[in-house]
Amino acid sequence: MSYKNKEIIIIGAGPAGLLSAYLLSDIFKKITLVDRLKYIKRKACGEYLCPRGVELLIQLQILDKFEEFNDLIGMRIISPQETEVETHFPELSNFKFKGLSLNREVFEKKLLQLVRGKSNIDIEFNFTVNEVLRKKDFWSINSLDNKTVSGDILIAADGRSSIVAKKLGHLKAVKNKRVALHCYLTKKRDSYDRFGEMHILKNNSYCGINPIDENEVNFSIVCDNTKVQKFKNKRELIIESINSSNLLKSKFNIPPENEKVNLVFPLNAKNSFVAGDNLVYVGDSAGFIDPLTGEGIYNALKSSVLLYESIQDKKDITKALMHYKRKKNIFFFQKTILNNFFQFVIKKPWLCELIANFLARKRDRGDAFVGIVGNIYSPLQGAMRLLVSRRG
Ligand SMILES: Cc1cc2nc3c(=O)[nH]c(=O)nc-3n(C[C@H](O)[C@H](O)[C@H](O)COP(=O)(O)OP(=O)(O)OC[C@H]3O[C@@H](n4cnc5c(N)ncnc54)[C@H](O)[C@@H]3O)c2cc1C
Repeated sequence: MSYKNKEIIIIGAGPAGLLSAYLLSDIFKKITLVDRLKYIKRKACGEYLCPRGVELLIQLQILDKFEEFNDLIGMRIISPQETEVETHFPELSNFKFKGLSLNREVFEKKLLQLVRGKSNIDIEFNFTVNEVLRKKDFWSINSLDNKTVSGDILIAADGRSSIVAKKLGHLKAVKNKRVALHCYLTKKRDSYDRFGEMHILKNNSYCGINPIDENEVNFSIVCDNTKVQKFKNKRELIIESINSSNLLKSKFNIPPENEKVNLVFPLNAKNSFVAGDNLVYVGDSAGFIDPLTGEGIYNALKSSVLLYESIQDKKDITKALMHYKRKKNIFFFQKTILNNFFQFVIKKPWLCELIANFLARKRDRGDAFVGIVGNIYSPLQGAMRLLVSRRG
């Protein structure tokens, strides 16, 4: 059977599911995209898109339609003793992209608009999948209110708590007691510059800050869940974190009483399967690591592109899915090691201090570091640049 006769189910209308639907609609007969949400809304996320992610959207000719997002020219990294390292995303002769502050609701609504433009994609919101069944030669999913969708191939793009991975036993337990709190803040001063910020606090926590626009700052903090239990409410923990740092205190207002604070967990998920048997995971559902380096959106988009390219390359779906799995493993290998190393460092304030001082000494070093985080350099390329940096 050729791809043209096959019907696809995609669960999840996040970046991974929406982009997969958009790209694959040219290859397959029909796609049904379902999501438990009633409509696209803003998610608890730092909303930073790394420069490589921006390049990807431009290559796909999606970004030129997204002029409403602000650039991020670099990152300020602040150590537990408040050593500040100002870094700029490096420009290469063949790479001149910056990061973006990406309001997720606006972004995903734009992707949805593209998906709606494809006549062979059916979209069903308010469809909470609670059953995933492998029938003889097709997949079938059921919703909480007993709706059923069937298809030849199932794409799970249902995020880090994937119902598909849970139901099929593909979710590997990961020991992680970290949680994230997320809200929006306002700035104290008028100063409005286009840097993201990463504050590593004294107590193994870190805050990610993204200046969405003149009025709104996206604020996430990742900490041990035991810390959350010590506070009467989540807002108090945010206030304590802001007050624990002179820099944070001087820059941001504490959230007003009515500000909603989101609590997000788990922050780690491993998938033991990824692809095979006409089933494939894309985005966070294929595996997810703590959002420290802010790459989840890029990874979600990239995995959809890898899947699309694999299906284009191989005319047989079994071979295509194996190809995707291999390419995905190779692509994420170095970054996974690096991310685990960062997770280790963040729990050792003295090591953070040492690294911050090393980076602060030469501008090129900080830029090489943020070049790795922003996926401009591979970890190996970046490490070489860190060691041979010249500019003071
Ligand atoms: C606190 C925090 C901060 C972050 N900051 C950043 C950042 O700054 N930059 C960055 O790149 N990444 C960040 N991330 C990671 C990023 O949010 C994710 O990696 C990204 O959203 C993954 O996209 P996705 O499409 O795989 O999944 P999602 O965006 O999670 O989409 C999954 C979709 O599946 C739907 N779904 C789930 N279960 C079901 C079900 N049973 N039935 C039907 N539908 C279902 C959900 O409603 C959702 O719409 C952050 C994450 C956290 C927790």
